[in-house]
Amino acid sequence: MNVYRATADEVLASLGTSRAGLSSKEAARRLAEYGPNAVERVRGKPLHKRALETLTHLFALLLWFAAAIAFVAHLIEPGLGMATLGYAIVGVILVNGLFAFWQEFRAERTLSELAKLLPAQVKVMRGEGVATVPAEELVPGDVIVVGQGDRVPADCRLIEAFALRISNATLTGEAMPLGRSAAPSDASDVLRSTNALLAGTSVLAGDGVAVVFATGSHTEFGKIARLAQGGTEDRSPLLEEVDSVSRVIAVLAFGLGLAFFGIGFEAGLSVWQASMFGIGTIVANVPEGLLPTITLTLAMGARRMARRKVLVRHLPATETLGAVTVICTDKTGTLTENRMAVRELFLSRTLAAAHPADLQPEQYTADRLLCEVSRRCQTVQWATDGGWLGDPMEVALVEMAERTGSASAGISLVSEIPFDADRKRMSTLHEMADGTFMYTKGAPETVLPLCTHLEANGRVAPLTRNLRQRLKEAEEALAKRGLRLLALAYRRLPAEAPLPTNEASLVFLGLVAFEDPPRKGVAEAVRSALQAGIKIVTATGDHPDTTIAIGRQIGLVGEEEIPQVVTGERLLHLSESQLWTALDAPCPIFARLAADQKLRIVRALRAKGHVTAVTGDGVNDAPALKEADIGIAMGRTGSDVAREAADMILVDDNFVSIVDAIEEGRAVFDNVRKFLTYVLTSNIAEFVPYLAFVLFGIPLPLTVIQILAVDLGTDLVPALALGAEKPCADVMQRPPRSRAELLLDHRLLLRAYGFLGLFEAAAGMAAFSFVLLQGGWSFGERLTADAHLYLQATTACLVAIVLLQVVNVFLCRDERTSLFSRARLANPLIFVGIAFEFAMILAVVYTQPGNVLFGTAPLGWQAWLSAGPFAAAMLAGEEMRKWIVRVYFARGQ
Ligand code: ATP
Repeated sequence: MNVYRATADEVLASLGTSRAGLSSKEAARRLAEYGPNAVERVRGKPLHKRALETLTHLFALLLWFAAAIAFVAHLIEPGLGMATLGYAIVGVILVNGLFAFWQEFRAERTLSELAKLLPAQVKVMRGEGVATVPAEELVPGDVIVVGQGDRVPADCRLIEAFALRISNATLTGEAMPLGRSAAPSDASDVLRSTNALLAGTSVLAGDGVAVVFATGSHTEFGKIARLAQGGTEDRSPLLEEVDSVSRVIAVLAFGLGLAFFGIGFEAGLSVWQASMFGIGTIVANVPEGLLPTITLTLAMGARRMARRKVLVRHLPATETLGAVTVICTDKTGTLTENRMAVRELFLSRTLAAAHPADLQPEQYTADRLLCEVSRRCQTVQWATDGGWLGDPMEVALVEMAERTGSASAGISLVSEIPFDADRKRMSTLHEMADGTFMYTKGAPETVLPLCTHLEANGRVAPLTRNLRQRLKEAEEALAKRGLRLLALAYRRLPAEAPLPTNEASLVFLGLVAFEDPPRKGVAEAVRSALQAGIKIVTATGDHPDTTIAIGRQIGLVGEEEIPQVVTGERLLHLSESQLWTALDAPCPIFARLAADQKLRIVRALRAKGHVTAVTGDGVNDAPALKEADIGIAMGRTGSDVAREAADMILVDDNFVSIVDAIEEGRAVFDNVRKFLTYVLTSNIAEFVPYLAFVLFGIPLPLTVIQILAVDLGTDLVPALALGAEKPCADVMQRPPRSRAELLLDHRLLLRAYGFLGLFEAAAGMAAFSFVLLQGGWSFGERLTADAHLYLQATTACLVAIVLLQVVNVFLCRDERTSLFSRARLANPLIFVGIAFEFAMILAVVYTQPGNVLFGTAPLGWQAWLSAGPFAAAMLAGEEMRKWIVRVYFARGQ
């Protein structure tokens, strides 16, 4: 039987199920039979391709080039040790490539592990009520409930639909919203049938109940999964900058290599000997571990964020967060608890404020009707585990109605106009014993204008201008206390009348005021964000006065301040420049926004040059989330569509987590700079020996193999440790970094190359000279490459560089703050790094294989000590520099 041509009941029968769904036992049985509802993920890029990429990026190509020259040199002029050099460089490329690949692989695994923390959930009818189960557990025959913003989890046939509109864009590429109903369809295929909901598509509006007829790879989506998957990777500002930094360094290294080749040749070396100097220069200047360390730093940032309840969907977003200058947040659920309780009522019966306990549902028609609207005009469902499932505000209403004993049996819901963020109201149509009723609830300013009458003491009275004024005043008084408001109304219709397309001629019943207190910690987070120079824009669908009152409680609005609130309606009439001016306020507030207006605000913020983080939960928020530099969706209340458009997800919907994540994001940028400073410092110490060799005609103080021992040996783990540093204490006291601020700016270069590097180069050269002079060498004397004294001298140079790097790792932990100024303990990885560094250098100096591989010889303790004064001088000099920076360049550093 064709699932879309038959009637709903025929389809249910053919799938062995009913409107009440399957029993849990039957569902479990079918799950074992049909398997989980999952489409096997196709990997974005095959492994071998990705491995190849790590071996062919710019630095690797440069090193391949160097290795090729070494091999050619060996062929033409054997005996210079060029073959060993060639192998060593190839080894470096391979080790580095493997390492980068491993890092990428791990980072990807981190992301997919994080994604698993948040499985898609589906509402399923199981016997007595609705249960929430992971989408993977759906089986054919399951009856599911879908609503606005849901991603359809399997191929289903509708059995009930209210104003349902869907988008089949993931399957057909057409973004047009399509209407869907439960009636049989005579379409030629399932994609066109008007009663099918297909896996992977999304519900744009309305709600419905549908029966699953295909799961997993049997769905239309499963069949074309290969096409639908993939997706493009965003590149963050950081990654783009790393690309350009890599290019600059590569060109620099290549240029210097060429220059040194020329100089060596001029100094009387053979072409191939001179080429060794060229190669040495290239190897000395390429920061081999840069790329894997950046990936690792981002992945570690993502992990730390996950611990703080923020899941990152794309790695580069970790760092973009650090540059955020504006958070554009909604209110309900993000700034507030979204745990609603009915605090107060304003009843039409008395035209006075009342407590829920004052309701008299049996006695007065007005109260009875108010309870009925509260109980029925809802989208909540009764869950199998007891309690109500749905919007917390609606749950609070239903519970209020039930507490007051509102009878509920025997009244059927005929149809509904679902809630919509633009209309800010919803209505349902019910057949009752005494007639057909339409119940409406929504934001007072959208419901009150539709009311023409008011219900009081069993009488329906016209809503005069005076009465309207009373209602308006009551509304404002409640909103000013930070309460969230709904107006409730009804209309009696002729028997069996259809639901009007729009509400009108309503009878007002009362206002319900809910308390939704600010979340714990939000006030501190707001203070911290403002201190960090981040602007907070509130963009909510709620009432302006409610928003101001909450803003006041969390410190967005000063005690005495009367802020300018831009309402959605005013925004319609604002020109672009007026909007820009409104956004200049320290904490702009937008209230009663229509669904698409957030996008306009985000666009304006970005046009003003802000890096914008935007929160959202509904389908309508998806465009704004996409437009934002960082789209943040809600983990708990957010719709699937919003989550898919977002870069990160707040597991607990909490504003505090955004501020925490920004702190981590800033740390990522800082850490990459720390690591760069550290690595570039040793590049100078590796390069100066070549300069000295050429300028002063002394034996070469450091061989190419020894350079590699530093760059890919001793430096590696401490550099990674710097990449894993926790945020500095003052990271949230600084203004956000400007877009123009470069990762590799002149300050960093000057500090690494022109300052720290010089101490290290001096230490290396001094240790080298010290050993030579002690061994009886005199200036101008030539030494063979295998002379013991020469081997010892180069070893001393290597040891001095490594020892100063041990000190340097502590200096690089902070650009401005003294090493001694705080109790902050270094992260344990730094000590692991140093232990590794020592183990490695001891092996290089004091073991037979180490000596052979790296051309070293054992040293006496005096040679080690010779580096001491330079280490002390580097420490003192850097402390002095930091002091000067702190005192004379207090800001903007
Ligand atoms: P935020 O955008 O900060 O999350 P919000 O949740 O108040 O705020 P919307 O969900 O757009 O924003 O709601 C706007 C208004 O619509 C609410 O203030 C309320 O008056 C009304 N409203 C919300 N939910 C419902 C509902 N289920 N039925 C009827 N009216 C509703």
